[in-house]
Amino acid sequence: MILILFGPPGAGKGTQSKLIQQEFDIPALSTGDMFRSNIKESTPLGIKVKTILDSGQLVGDDIVIELVEDALSNDHYEHGYILDGFPRTVYQAEAYDRILSSKGKTIKAFISLHVPDDVLVDRLLNRGEGRTDDTEDKIRVRLDVYKKETQPVMEYYASKGLLVEIDGVGTIEEIFNRIKNALS
Ligand code: ADP
Repeated sequence: MILILFGPPGAGKGTQSKLIQQEFDIPALSTGDMFRSNIKESTPLGIKVKTILDSGQLVGDDIVIELVEDALSNDHYEHGYILDGFPRTVYQAEAYDRILSSKGKTIKAFISLHVPDDVLVDRLLNRGEGRTDDTEDKIRVRLDVYKKETQPVMEYYASKGLLVEIDGVGTIEEIFNRIKNALS
């Protein structure tokens, strides 16, 4: 089963991804986590993307697509996975479609978490993970980028009939139950 978990920064993608991984026994692929671990280990990729992540802007499409394509060639993802943070532009979504069709795979659902902006900002400022992009000005940049570049990805999957919209306000368990119900 291939799932895409979608939503603005602070929507709870990482949290719900962990629960979905346990429930359905599938691994997750988070582009943000992959970039952060490359930065931590000062790999060539990490060095290249550090200032971009710190600014709150998006990493270039071609870099992200190569990273994902490379990861998906691993057997680990053979029996399905959940994508968190990708695709984030329509260009990435189109490239991902080509990757999927070359493997003869299809997406089960595109799960979009909906959370109002004021709640998002509150959550990001209070999550205390020490991320360098969780400051008020960087959060504004990330929300702006989300609206301009990422939100159109939702229309892309809606037009394919894959969009599942989930109210992302509530307790972690309530939201997870909504996701489970929508998938069953
Ligand atoms: P959040 O959803 O809270 O903003 P992520 O961990 O998904 O956090 O992403 C953090 C940063 O990593 C983004 O602001 C961006 O710079 C980079 N990034 C992650 N995924 C992508 C992607 N698919 N395309 C471009 N940049 C990405």
